[in-house]
Amino acid sequence: MHETDMTKALIMTVQAWWASQPERPPVARVYLTVGQFTCVEPASLQFAFDVQTQDTFLDGAELVIQETPLIAFCHACQTEYRPQVGLRYACPTCQAPMDDIRSGRELKIDRVEYVALPTSVP
Ligand SMILES: [Zn+2]
Repeated sequence: MHETDMTKALIMTVQAWWASQPERPPVARVYLTVGQFTCVEPASLQFAFDVQTQDTFLDGAELVIQETPLIAFCHACQTEYRPQVGLRYACPTCQAPMDDIRSGRELKIDRVEYVALPTSVP
């Protein structure tokens, strides 16, 4: 399971970051950017995250996945185009094979959101 290993790495990254925070506030949401060309199934990732965060510091945290489209650039036509994922990886105009990917391979944590703690007024 590709997504299971990926989720492990994701949780470890968030944990390392969280452990370095002075206050270690509860995490509400983890925002993730996933490119269409990473072969990651967002639903599987979501499921793996829910399972693997149980009884950890991330228990109850929400995983928000933002997908970025696959965008390639054709040097012959000097244009960007969107290949049809899983169907066709070539320029729709001149049929040149896709060789320059501009977007769609991202897999990164965008940001982490805390649970807003009530601030005590002195
Ligand atoms: Zn072209």
